[in-house]
Amino acid sequence: MDNDLKDVIVVGAGPTGLACAIEAEKKQLNFLVIEKGCIVNSIQNFPVQMTFFTTPELLEIGGLPFVSSYDKPTRLEALKYYRRAADTCRLKLRLYETVLAVEGSDGDFRVRTRTRSGVACLYRARKIILATGYYDIPNLLEIPGEILPKVFHYYTEAHPYYGTDVAVIGGKNSAAIAALDLYRNGARVTLIHRETELSPSIKYWIKPDIENRIKNREIDAFFETSVVQIDQEHIQLRDSTGRTWPLKNDFVFAMTGYRPDLEFFKSIGIHLNPDDQRPFHKDSFESDVPGIYLAGVVVAGMHTNEVFIENGRFHGEVIIKDISQRR
Ligand code: NAP
Repeated sequence: MDNDLKDVIVVGAGPTGLACAIEAEKKQLNFLVIEKGCIVNSIQNFPVQMTFFTTPELLEIGGLPFVSSYDKPTRLEALKYYRRAADTCRLKLRLYETVLAVEGSDGDFRVRTRTRSGVACLYRARKIILATGYYDIPNLLEIPGEILPKVFHYYTEAHPYYGTDVAVIGGKNSAAIAALDLYRNGARVTLIHRETELSPSIKYWIKPDIENRIKNREIDAFFETSVVQIDQEHIQLRDSTGRTWPLKNDFVFAMTGYRPDLEFFKSIGIHLNPDDQRPFHKDSFESDVPGIYLAGVVVAGMHTNEVFIENGRFHGEVIIKDISQRR
């Protein structure tokens, strides 16, 4: 057990968690960041060749300049930027350590963790900030065959799928980007979406591209259609009339979005709005468990398209101000 009573423990070393830690450092609080993966683990797991939708200054944390060679920075540039930010601000990070439980109460929380090698650790902190993001838990299709190794909920790169029959499920940005990349690298791609058309939320520089590939039959597409079963050689499709048919298939990318770990919040006593699963919180981002704050996309419950790095990065300032004033 680490007997040092920290002012604050931040759970999650994504851009939002790092921004919280930088604010804590600025206020000379005694803090620690605990992260179950690598630093900015979500960005590490984004598609290898990914380019952000936004300009570099909107990804900056702690006022540290993010210089990119492009209008929109690449994943590799972002990884480098956040590593440099952690170094520059001398952030205290415990990486590859999973938070299992938060116990105790405001002023004296106990955080139970397990390291990658299986060692159990215990830390104490006056306040907790949960900045756990949403990229770890994919929205599942909940259909037979979803657990087969040929089914992925994350898209990284196209090369392994050259010359194969690949199904991409979903109708928003990740699905469009994966389908185009796979098509351009020699996969035979079928896009399957449950709605009547692709989402208007697909970025304006991507949407005409995917629509034209579909129009030209370079990418096959089925709308108002769901995948109802997956097996080794085929997927089974069902349309809105109830008609079902098999489609030859080697790999499936279910680009069906992601959700925060709401069960974890409930396990530590945070209540969720039953309508949209938003965790209750004040303007200061303190949850309804005194002393436990929420930062980043987790505040939005299932509305994960409301909070991004661009706005979540400012939550730390509000939270640390509240913590400092009440110290
Ligand atoms: P998303 O926006 O949540 O879209 C998920 C898609 O999957 C939707 O079309 C949804 O259908 C469908 N879907 C969800 N559950 C399903 C189910 N059970 N069965 C069938 N279809 C299902 O996810 P995303 O495209 O991965 O995007 C996530 C976030 O990352 C967004 O904020 C996006 O803008 C961002 N993003 C950023 C970049 C970048 O910066 N370069 C790239 C990609 C994505 P409905 O349309 O019916 O809801």
